[in-house]
Amino acid sequence: MHMSSYKEFHRRSIEDRDGFWAEQARLVDWHKPAEQVCDFSHPPFVKWFKGGETNLCHNAVDRHAAKRPDDRALIYISTETNEEKVYSFAELQREVERMAAIYQDLGVQRGDRVLIYMPMIAEAAFAMLACARIGAIHSVVFGGFAAGSLATRIDDAKPVLMVSSDAGMRNGRPVPYKHLVDEACKLAEFPPAKVLLVDRGLDKGFPRVEGRDVDYATLRAKHIDARVPVTWLESSEPSYILYTSGTTGKPKGVQRDTGGYTVALAASMQHIFTGFAGETMFSTSDIGWVVGHSYIVYGPLIAGMATVMYEGTPLRPDAGIWWQIVEKHKVNVMFSAPTAVRVLKKQDPAFLKKYDLSSLKHLFLAGEPLDETSHKWIMDELNIPVIDNYWQTETGWPMLAICRGVEQSRIKLGSPAFPVYGYDLRIFREDGTECGPDEKGIVGILPPLPPGCLSTVWGQDERFVSTYFSLFQDPVVYSSSDWGIKDADGYHTILGRMDDVINVAGHRLGTREIEEAVQAHSAIAEVAVVGVADEVKGQMPMAFAVVKNAADVDTAEKRAALEKDVMKTVDNLLGAIARPSRVHFITGLPKTRSGKMLRRSIQALAEGRDPGDLTTIDDPSTLEQIKAALAG
Ligand code: AMP
Repeated sequence: MHMSSYKEFHRRSIEDRDGFWAEQARLVDWHKPAEQVCDFSHPPFVKWFKGGETNLCHNAVDRHAAKRPDDRALIYISTETNEEKVYSFAELQREVERMAAIYQDLGVQRGDRVLIYMPMIAEAAFAMLACARIGAIHSVVFGGFAAGSLATRIDDAKPVLMVSSDAGMRNGRPVPYKHLVDEACKLAEFPPAKVLLVDRGLDKGFPRVEGRDVDYATLRAKHIDARVPVTWLESSEPSYILYTSGTTGKPKGVQRDTGGYTVALAASMQHIFTGFAGETMFSTSDIGWVVGHSYIVYGPLIAGMATVMYEGTPLRPDAGIWWQIVEKHKVNVMFSAPTAVRVLKKQDPAFLKKYDLSSLKHLFLAGEPLDETSHKWIMDELNIPVIDNYWQTETGWPMLAICRGVEQSRIKLGSPAFPVYGYDLRIFREDGTECGPDEKGIVGILPPLPPGCLSTVWGQDERFVSTYFSLFQDPVVYSSSDWGIKDADGYHTILGRMDDVINVAGHRLGTREIEEAVQAHSAIAEVAVVGVADEVKGQMPMAFAVVKNAADVDTAEKRAALEKDVMKTVDNLLGAIARPSRVHFITGLPKTRSGKMLRRSIQALAEGRDPGDLTTIDDPSTLEQIKAALAG
C-alpha cells in the first residue's frame, strides 16, 4: 500500500494520527461510521472511533461466512482426546448463533458479564464469539487458575453466567474444571445465577447444582435452528475484561473496547503478521491469555484466516507435533513463546526436519525476553524469519516488532526491534527526561494509547490512572513497568520488569498474590516471594517463609512436610502455575529499618548474585540465613 519505508509509516501514524487510523478503520465493517476518529478530551482516557457502530463477531465471522462460507475458519485439534474437527465460516457462524441463543435463553443481556472458564475446545471460541455477538462482556479465566483466583475474578466481574466444562486434559490426564467452579462459587460473594456446562464425558458423574447448572448439549439441541442477529455496539462499549496480575494481591481487569480493538487487530494482521484470508494461523497460547484473545480467536478470524485451536502440549505424542500440524494444515503464520523454543531446543532436532514446513512464512515469539541463543537456534532450524515482539495484556497487540507487512527490516537477535505504528514509545530516565542511545530506562508511551489498548481498569477508573499514568507529572506517559534500552540503530531490548511482577514460562504472575496464598497457610507468619532465573521457564517463584511456631520446622522431615503442604495451599488457591519451586524456612526476612522488604537483595542472593546496597538493612543476619537455606 505504501511505497515508503517503515519509519515514514510510523511517523505518519503519530503525526497524522486521525488520518492514519481512519484509513485502518476501512479494514473492518461498520454499521455506522465514526463521527470522530480519536476523542482525547479527557486524558489519559481515549475513545476511538467515537459514534461508530460495529461488532467484533460480525467482523470475525459473519462477513466472511457471507462471502466464503465453505472456507475453513476454526481448526480444533486435541492430542489429548485425539479429536480433530474443522469448522467452516458458515458452520462457525451457526454454532455461535446457537450459543448466543442459549445466552439469551438464560437471560444474558447486552453489557452483562459472562465468565468463561474452559479448556481449549471449540466451544470456548463459540462462547467468546457469542458474547461479542450480543454485546455481552466476556471474561475468560485461564484454566490453570484454581478456585481462589477464580473467586476473586467472579467477585470483580460479577458475571450473570459462567460457561465451563467438566474437565480439561493435560498430558493424558483429566484436569477437573467443574469442581473448581463449584468451589469458586462457594468462595465468591457474587456467584453467577447460572452455570452452562459443556460435558466432554471426561469426569463422569461430576456433581450438578440443581437450578443453577445447565447442560450445553441439551440447550444446543433446543436452539439448533436459532438465528441471532448481531447487536451493533458503539465503538467504546466494552468487548471483554481480561484479568492480569499487578503489584497488589488483587488482579486488574483490563477492559477492552469494541471498535478500536477490531481495527487494531485487523491492521496488525496486515502490517505485522501478514496473514490474509484463506491462510492459516497457529498460535500455541491459550484462550485464557491475551495472545489467545487476540491471535487465536479474534485476529486471524477478522483477517479471514483459519485459526488452529490446539489442546495439548508441544511434546505429546512427540516433539514433532507442532510441525506435524503445520504440515497437515498448511500453517502460514505461527505465534509462540520463547519458553516453548527453549523446551524444543532440548529435544531431538530431527523432529524439525521431519515435516514439510514450506507453508510457514514466519514465526512470532512474545511474552518474555527472547535470548539471542534461542532466537538464533530456532531461526536456523526453521530457516524463516523469527520475529520477537513485545507487548502486554494491557496493550492487546504488539508495541515493539518488525512490521513485515510494511518493510522487511533486518532482524537483530534478541531484540523486538521498533515501536509499532500508533505507539509513540520512548525510553525515559527516572526524572522524566528521555534516555539517549544505549541508556537503560523505563519503557513509556506518550498518550493517547492507540486503538486496541485497554480503555480502563474494569470498574476502577482511578486505578487506571494511578497504575499506568502516574510515573511522571510532566510528561504524563503510560508506564509499561518494564526496563528497556534502545541502541543507536533504533532497535529496542526489554530488560525486565521494574515491579514485583514475574514471568513464568511467558505467564505473568504477581509475587504479592503468591505471598498472600502462602500466608493463607496457618503455619506461616510472613513470607517473601521472588522470581528466580530459570533456564527453561525464564523465571520461577521462590518463597522464603517465617513460621509462627519454630517447632514446626525443627527437623528436616518437618521442613520437607511443611514445604509440600505450603505448595499444596498455593495449588489450591491460585493453581499449580503459581507454585513456588522451593519454600525455604528462615526466622526473619531482610528489611530496612523502616520495615520495607529488601526483595531485590533476596532475589539477588537466590540467583547467586551480590545483594547490593545493604546500608539500610535492619538485621544483617537474615541474609546469612537465606544464604544458608539456599546452600542447604
Ligand atoms: P503479559 O501481560 O502477561 O503478556 O506480560 C507482559 C510482560 O511480559 C511485559 O510487561 C514484559 O515484561 C514481558 N514481555 C512480553 N513480551 C516480551 C518480549 N518480547 N521481550 C521481553 N519481555 C516481554
